[in-house]
Amino acid sequence: MQPLKPQPEAFPDDIAIIEDDTASPATRPDRARWKILVVDDDSEVHSVTRFVLGHTELLGRPLDLIEATSSMDAQQELLRHPDIAVILLDVVMEEHDSGLKFARWVRDAGLSDVRIILRTGQPGYAPELDVIREYDINDYRAKSELTQTRLITSMTSALRSFQQIETIERSRRGLEMIVASCSQLFQKRELAGFSQGVLLQIASLCGVEGDGLICASTDQPVPGNARIVSGVGGLSSYIGRNLSDLPEGSELKAATLEAIRRNLSSTDGPLVLSVDAPPDQRFVASLDHAKPLDAMDSALLRVFAANIAVGFENVGLIERLDRLAYWDETTGLPNRNSLLRDMAEHGADGANVALLRVVSYSDTLVAFGQAMATGLLGEIAASLTGDRGAATVYRYAEDVLGVIVKPDTHQEALIASLGHRQFSVARQSLKARFAVGSAPIERGSDATMTCDQAYAAMSLAAVDGREDIVQFDAKMVRDARGRIEMIAALRSALADGEVNIAFQPLVDMSSGACAGFEALARWNQKGAPVSPGEFIPLAEQSGLSFEIFALGVRRSAEWLNRLGKIGQGKYVSVNLAACDLEREDLVPLVVNLLGRSQLPPASLQIEITEQSLIRDFALSERNLRALKNLGCRIAIDDFGTGYSSLSYIGRLPVDVLKLDRQFITDITSDPSSQAIASLTFALSRRLGLEILAEGIETAEQQACLEEIGFKYAQGYRFGRPMAPDQLHDWMMQRAKA
Ligand code: C2E
Ligand code: MG
Ligand code: MG
Repeated sequence: MQPLKPQPEAFPDDIAIIEDDTASPATRPDRARWKILVVDDDSEVHSVTRFVLGHTELLGRPLDLIEATSSMDAQQELLRHPDIAVILLDVVMEEHDSGLKFARWVRDAGLSDVRIILRTGQPGYAPELDVIREYDINDYRAKSELTQTRLITSMTSALRSFQQIETIERSRRGLEMIVASCSQLFQKRELAGFSQGVLLQIASLCGVEGDGLICASTDQPVPGNARIVSGVGGLSSYIGRNLSDLPEGSELKAATLEAIRRNLSSTDGPLVLSVDAPPDQRFVASLDHAKPLDAMDSALLRVFAANIAVGFENVGLIERLDRLAYWDETTGLPNRNSLLRDMAEHGADGANVALLRVVSYSDTLVAFGQAMATGLLGEIAASLTGDRGAATVYRYAEDVLGVIVKPDTHQEALIASLGHRQFSVARQSLKARFAVGSAPIERGSDATMTCDQAYAAMSLAAVDGREDIVQFDAKMVRDARGRIEMIAALRSALADGEVNIAFQPLVDMSSGACAGFEALARWNQKGAPVSPGEFIPLAEQSGLSFEIFALGVRRSAEWLNRLGKIGQGKYVSVNLAACDLEREDLVPLVVNLLGRSQLPPASLQIEITEQSLIRDFALSERNLRALKNLGCRIAIDDFGTGYSSLSYIGRLPVDVLKLDRQFITDITSDPSSQAIASLTFALSRRLGLEILAEGIETAEQQACLEEIGFKYAQGYRFGRPMAPDQLHDWMMQRAKA
């Protein structure tokens, strides 16, 4: 086994190069000439040998004669020329067995390839047979025997056996290198490191240097699109790019393309090695080299290629598993696991993690399908990444993107501007709505917990409809806990009958007659009233709001029943929460409710707020139309507080507009409130709708409204919301008056 040496500095730290200490292929001698060491203390013998061999070619190569006159000289020469093929060695020199001692030194030094021919001038000094065997002596001759022909024959046979030994030795070393390098390489878990190692080992195996690369043509029908996964020399800067990005006219590029197309390996021109790794990957390693490669190089490369195919398959599998664990397949964005992993790198730099819920994602999914919804996420991610890829955007959940917001970047401003942007997906221009929460990444804190905090802040932003980035703080936890407890309490209050309905009269100002009532939920928690402004949003979040609507309908039916004749022609107006207007099953639920409570549909007015229409206009419109077809009246509550009210109100099956109290409060003094009241009144006339003013408290406000033309109103001036008993008394009194 060859030792593992530290690699040259130019190569990455974690790649070990296997080198051969004795005669690495990289330093392999020039094979153009045979080096022959002639050792003899007789100068005459040197000149004769020069004369015989100096101009001779053996086995196709000329000879280089290196001369030494003592065994000491010979040692020096051998150390200087480790590629000496044959030693022509005089036995008797300074001592009678100097030659034999030198032969022993050669073998003891581990120089086993070099061939030795012993010569002696004195026939009596022939070595023993076991010495010949032990020192691996090729031939033994008396100098007198060595005629020209004999010398050449003996030299040729020594050279041939040197050549055979060298071939066997090279292949042994090469195979050892392959075994060692493969076990090293197989410890690599990622493609980049593995293929970089493969490239360096190929160069080392064949003793070549030069520019090189490895391409992966996985799933790439166009060879030019093959990805460069590793590179050495001048090509290291191309890692991560496509093969087609290499300069035109490059011989290496042409050879690599050809190898990808035809699954070819070749050592003519650049060295190209094609390796198929199941199921569908082809890797091509290419190296430019100056040195010609021989049949042995090709054979070793074939063995190497067969071995590393398994390695490529393994890293391919590991990378695929890694992709599944860390990447979102549909968008190609890194996923939540990636975010959690990458967050570990921050903590001391004041970065925050921001989570963005794309509120309109599900609408896009329902209306336009998966591809469009995914496309929308991709567009949003691209605009968050920034022009120069400044930030990484993660897909945290189905409709939630994540970003690590570093301080002193434009990231925060970029996020804040998203809500005002149009996104172009498949030639459609889409406007997305966002809820954004953010939490600080603190040193040593748990990434999952930080994300949970950002998520909580984001959920709060969604519930409150906030457009800014909601920053997580400790109060939020207390609030969230408080909300959860409150929801639990509301749930039991509903079950225990602690939630009741109060009725507020809706009056005809001109006659003072009561036209109907608004049903308003009341919750007395252990004797203390909880404001609907507090518990209605909680009911909406926890799915309890429809239960409150149903309670309103049931109590309304009971109320109208109790009024009997007086109640005839009067209606009850019940508030329906925004989230319930978006229920697919709303209409059957209402039908069922009306049936069971025996409330005639014409006696039920359903109040919805403008805000609820903005959420999913199409579905809201469909539900409203169906409710209208049942015979119910539809009122738009808090009118004027929503957005594009005027543009869509004409398209909806609406009966009544309830002008919000905020325009009534200052109507006597504020010209703009007066203007809005007048305009809304005019609009209702144009659209043929009834209009009612909310929150009238004073006679002046009433006068002002009546002057504009308002007929119907609701407010403390006429009657507060009252429990049925109290309202009954109120009505009786008015009837008497
Ligand atoms: P809303 O539907 O606009 O109901 C009118 C609100 O204005 C009621 O507040 C009522 O008490 C109040 N109000 C009426 N006249 C006056 C006045 O002259 N001055 C003042 N200052 N206020 C007046 P309330 O009962 O606190 O309800 C607040 C909101 O809570 C309601 O606004 C409605 O949006 C929601 N809500 C109440 N009950 C229900 C319910 O059963 N279901 C749903 N979904 N929402 C409800
Ligand atoms: Mg209302
Ligand atoms: Mg209102």
